[in-house]
Amino acid sequence: MVDLGGQYEGIKEQVNLAIAEVMETSAFINGPEVQTFQKDLEAYLGVKHVIPCANGTDALQIAMMGLGLQPGDEVITADFTFAATVEVIALLQLTPVLVDVEPDTFNIDIKAVEKAISPKTKAIVPVHLFGQCANMEALMALAKKHNLYIIEDNAQAIGADYTFEDGSKQKAGTIGHVGATSFFPSKNLGAYGDGGAIFTNDDDLAHTLRGIVNHGMYERYHHDVVGVNSRLDSIQAAVLRAKLPKLDGYCDARRAAARKYSAAFKGQENIIVPKTVNYCDGRCDRNICDTCDCHVFHQYTLRITNGKRDALVKHLGEQDIPSGVYYPIPLHKQKAYADERYNEADFPVTNQLVKDVISLPMHTELDHEQIRFITKAVIDFVNG
Ligand SMILES: *Cc1c(COP(=O)(O)O)cnc(C)c1O
Repeated sequence: MVDLGGQYEGIKEQVNLAIAEVMETSAFINGPEVQTFQKDLEAYLGVKHVIPCANGTDALQIAMMGLGLQPGDEVITADFTFAATVEVIALLQLTPVLVDVEPDTFNIDIKAVEKAISPKTKAIVPVHLFGQCANMEALMALAKKHNLYIIEDNAQAIGADYTFEDGSKQKAGTIGHVGATSFFPSKNLGAYGDGGAIFTNDDDLAHTLRGIVNHGMYERYHHDVVGVNSRLDSIQAAVLRAKLPKLDGYCDARRAAARKYSAAFKGQENIIVPKTVNYCDGRCDRNICDTCDCHVFHQYTLRITNGKRDALVKHLGEQDIPSGVYYPIPLHKQKAYADERYNEADFPVTNQLVKDVISLPMHTELDHEQIRFITKAVIDFVNG
């Protein structure tokens, strides 16, 4: 599904040197590399504060702690996402409120969000699934109207742009009150181990978050709030710092691969290719969505509409073509998160997507021949 070895070949020298420098300084935790990476990422994203932490799940949890969410507060998020999003809501004893997603973008459905807002709702967590932003302009308007926080789960969309109706752009993860990302090795900006970060433009919130990641300390051995131990280690920061200047190029490589995939699947009746949307609706300066920066294709995910998805997964496996089903079970049906509050009629899209979706290999090193081989295998089987 990913080719981290192939990518490493292209950056070996920089990465090895960066790691060697950390070894020389022995500053393994919170060394200068962490601060430099933080500054570099703030500049890249155009955000005031980046708070590095140990992983993306922690980043989400710490964001919710920093906002002061209290047990019983309701937090609305998508039914169709990785479990980490809902896991931290439940861990903090907040009440997860899962809602359906859109059939074409797989992102949280604004109408479903609106319907789920109650007097207890305190926050919405849009997940920028597979590398494309949720409809942030509509979500920010809803948040303003109902006085809610927006916490962006940006684990899959770092580097993506979001274009507003007026044509202005912001990086994914920097639009809401706070954003969380993951540097898990297979993510678009991947470390060589675990890592994560929180983004915000709010100075007070940033200060709170910096304490929480470090045992609630703002001054050594003075614990002002209950915190956690969640640090990005210096070796991972050094790797990320070496890779950050490549991120835009990596995004372009993913988009190019996605374009080739979609061109090959064009006209296939039983295959729906991923849709890239500009929520700006044509007002963006690069309105041809295929060449727009709105999608960074963390995954390239098809819908197989003739019921052959499971058989296709098996068939591709037999030909040594990797594929993945993200995600096979709606969160509201997972044992840990099932609740009698949920009504099946409220999840028609997610309930169908879990049967249809299949993600194909997607990474920065895919070549023409591989894409030709994969798309032919998919088309022959689905039509066969
Ligand atoms: C990967 C991921 C996370 C969690 O990140 P980790 O670094 O693995 O903890 C959270 N949300 C989404 C949508 C993810 O894809």
